[in-house]
Amino acid sequence: AEEALRQSHKMETVGQLTGGVAHDFNNLLQIVTGNLDILQRNLPGDQPRLARAAGAAMNGAQRAAVLTQRLLAFSRRQPLVPERVDPDRLIVGMSDLLHRSLGETIEVEIVQAGRVWPVEVDANQLENALLNLAINARDAMPGGGKLTIETANTHLDSHYTARDVEVTPGQYVLISVSDTGIGMDAETLAHVFEPFFTTKEVGRGTGLGLSMVYGFIKQSGGHVRIYSEPDHGTSVKIYLPRFRGTTGTAAPQAPVELVPQG
Ligand code: ADP
Repeated sequence: AEEALRQSHKMETVGQLTGGVAHDFNNLLQIVTGNLDILQRNLPGDQPRLARAAGAAMNGAQRAAVLTQRLLAFSRRQPLVPERVDPDRLIVGMSDLLHRSLGETIEVEIVQAGRVWPVEVDANQLENALLNLAINARDAMPGGGKLTIETANTHLDSHYTARDVEVTPGQYVLISVSDTGIGMDAETLAHVFEPFFTTKEVGRGTGLGLSMVYGFIKQSGGHVRIYSEPDHGTSVKIYLPRFRGTTGTAAPQAPVELVPQG
């Protein structure tokens, strides 16, 4: 538990640092993209080289914007719009996207045992997070394999809390995303949530996917845990708090201190 606490403080510090930089960087990017947009709209039609250059600049700026969004998500500085979400419907709604993103060699199985509770979460960000997990799973299964997304109602009790740091006991919906891929060793597992940590080749990975997922889930009052074994695959378990609100805007969740892994 001491190690978990140390790790969670470290994540907190890294979050504050990156959040500050990302926030300022995002503002600067707005200036870049805003002005590029004006340039693009007002380019004379007979200047294809200039148009290409402006297009390339815009493309780069937009990719930078995606990275800063992920950093903001990790540092919990991202504005979220929590709403009542039916997790099973959201996942089924993603199945075309998942099949297209994963390709033909990966089987996708969606397991929905019954009615899960609605959760209180930003739906777009949840889709984004699940897609990130699916892409990681794909990268871990270069020779093909199986991705399973499963949902279940669950109660995190004091026993669970005792093993972790300050998880609010209560009702959660568990979404687990499992693959049959290469898995991770303990050393990798200890760092996966840190921003910029990647084992992928330069240009392939940014190391921001899981840190974004971590920050987003934490900001949503939830909990995330990863189980992995080399050669046996990986299972990412996300716990989202059951929807409690009535109508209108959701009440902000009390902050929950989470540890990156068990
Ligand atoms: P990126 O995918 O850009 O490397 P992430 O933060 O999403 O960044 O992941 C960090 C690292 O965690 C990956 O480089 C990889 O080593 C490991 N990882 C993440 N998901 C999986 C998975 N499903 N199976 C095996 N390793 C994984």
